[in-house]
Amino acid sequence: MELFNLKETSQRVNFAEALQKGLGNNQGLFFPAEIPKFDDIDALLDMDLVTRSSTILKRVIGDELSEQDIQNIVSKAFTFPAPLAKVDDNTYCLELFHGPTLAFKDFGGRFMAQCLAKIAGDRPITILTATSGDTGAAVAHAFYGLANIQVVILYPKGKISLLQEKLFATLGGNIRTVAINGDFDQCQALVKASFDDQQLRDDIHLNSANSINISRLLAQVCYYFEAFAQVPAEKRDNVVISIPSGNFGNLTAGMLATTMGLPVKHFVAATNSNDTVPRYLKTGEWDPNATVATMSNAMDVSQPNNWPRIEALFEYGYLDKAILTGQGVDEEYTQLAMKQLAQIGYISEPHAAVAYKALCSQIEEGQTGIFLGTAHPAKFKESVENVLGQPISLPQPLADCAGKEILSSELDADFSQLKAYLYKELK
Ligand SMILES: *Cc1c(COP(=O)(O)O)cnc(C)c1O
Repeated sequence: MELFNLKETSQRVNFAEALQKGLGNNQGLFFPAEIPKFDDIDALLDMDLVTRSSTILKRVIGDELSEQDIQNIVSKAFTFPAPLAKVDDNTYCLELFHGPTLAFKDFGGRFMAQCLAKIAGDRPITILTATSGDTGAAVAHAFYGLANIQVVILYPKGKISLLQEKLFATLGGNIRTVAINGDFDQCQALVKASFDDQQLRDDIHLNSANSINISRLLAQVCYYFEAFAQVPAEKRDNVVISIPSGNFGNLTAGMLATTMGLPVKHFVAATNSNDTVPRYLKTGEWDPNATVATMSNAMDVSQPNNWPRIEALFEYGYLDKAILTGQGVDEEYTQLAMKQLAQIGYISEPHAAVAYKALCSQIEEGQTGIFLGTAHPAKFKESVENVLGQPISLPQPLADCAGKEILSSELDADFSQLKAYLYKELK
């Protein structure tokens, strides 16, 4: 697989390099030089999740990993299902929260960890990542206990739920967590600054693991196929997918799946009040506001870092711009959507509710709608209970960590502080 840097197109790398670097020169994102288009979609949809995903990933990644390697990686990573739950006659929720940390990021995180473990072999590496909530947990659990791999996770102090924090900040061992006095965009900027510091990068063998890593996106492509495999065949040519978006990795993966031949009719980029993209799609003007805190906090991002990849899909002629529209959903409508869903018998947390509301506002007569359930309702227990007025029980992974102590360090949103910390801990 060959990839190029969107900011510096002469920088070309293979999958292993893109996996380990995360970002290219000048903070550019890696993008596939070629995206294969499959002509056997029906046959693919007949396969089980692991077989189909291995087949797709082998075709995309190519000779760098053998068929057997990819099959091993995928079967260690995708150890849980992605069921399509029927919400009403023409609406489904793709439930991506049945993994160990109860959010869709388990798919990308676990696939990436297994790929890195395979490709790095005995070399030591450090994973540095910023999380607005769920990436951290997925990355921490995916790498926990892997030999030769150290993990450092930055997150905005006080801006994620206590249970979210407990899920990744209580592990210890090779997992270090740092609460930053700032917002998620500042955490993300610290990660970028670290990668820009070549000396630091070499000294601590830096690798990235947030949603900019191409391996995560490739893993996520697979569950869009899994969704279609569960849609009744007669409905497959008229499907709209609504994606609750923050950094837009999930939407990028969906649009890559379509580029590969999955016949998605339309995508809805659903955001909370941090609606830079929906406004941009309407007006053509890129005009981010200051990030505001919402109930759907994993989407509190106003400068989404995957957006250039979506632009590239249009620019390089893979997809027509008409395939994508956007919809921002404010706090009031998010709560309303949670209540409406509960009334028809489906309990959702705020992120999925944003996607459901956006879907309802954009779906047309005769279409089948899918919204992505990106987290388990119990992961946002407090807000779900507040809005619905009914108790939510904790599934096992959350119950297990709820009583444990948080082990995080605390730093200001200041690169020199972070750098000193990294040298102290890792050099
Ligand atoms: C990360 C996350 C999102 C946003 O996904 P992106 O790929 O960053 O757009 C949505 N919902 C939940 C629950 C998340 O954890």
